Amino acid sequence: MYDAVDKLDREGVVAFISGLQQPDGSFAGDRWGEVDVRFAYCALSALTILDALDSIDVDACVGWILRCMNYEGSFGPVPRAESHAAYVFCAVQALALVDALRAVDVDQLGWWLCERQTPSGGFNGRPEKAPDVCYSWWILSALATIDRVHWIDVEKLAEFILAAQDEDGGIADRPGDVPDVFHTFFGLAGLSLMRRVDLAPIHCVYALPLEVVQKMKLPPILPIYDSR
Ligand SMILES: [Zn+2]
Repeated sequence: MYDAVDKLDREGVVAFISGLQQPDGSFAGDRWGEVDVRFAYCALSALTILDALDSIDVDACVGWILRCMNYEGSFGPVPRAESHAAYVFCAVQALALVDALRAVDVDQLGWWLCERQTPSGGFNGRPEKAPDVCYSWWILSALATIDRVHWIDVEKLAEFILAAQDEDGGIADRPGDVPDVFHTFFGLAGLSLMRRVDLAPIHCVYALPLEVVQKMKLPPILPIYDSR
């Protein structure tokens, strides 16, 4: 809602989100009941923005997210599921929002995330998968939050994103593919976080422009990664 949060039915939104918390602390995405760590991140982020974290059981949510952590320090979508870098973003940033990152072994997680960088410079989401521009954001922002960006080759990552640009504009999932707005956003967000092109700086936890986060006076949350 950018700078128009005051236009929301705040009580209604808070009641809707808090009503989706399950007895085990997790969040469903809607009343049909699909549960995974994406919805925990969305709930914690939205309730942080609305200053309404006291409407849910935060400790139960943190406990459930930590049950999604696997032996290699990474996270899957639900407990006992295969680790996947997009869910690492959700888990790490959700824990950052409520100051619960101390429960994460950042060196072990950082190692698993760094292992996702392929010879092309792009990240894959799981071992043996093809690189994809959207992981430039999921992984890079998680590395920024745990302060391990210096463990990867940012120049090669930027080259991979820029090579996925289409001659008519837009960014694809990988070089040679057709661009879409989803990968264009994550490509720009990754380039912004790396400060490799002249873009407005982005906040690694909220995935919003830093200017908006400051304007809305949102809780600051950890030092912002700064490559300068
Ligand atoms: Zn993708």
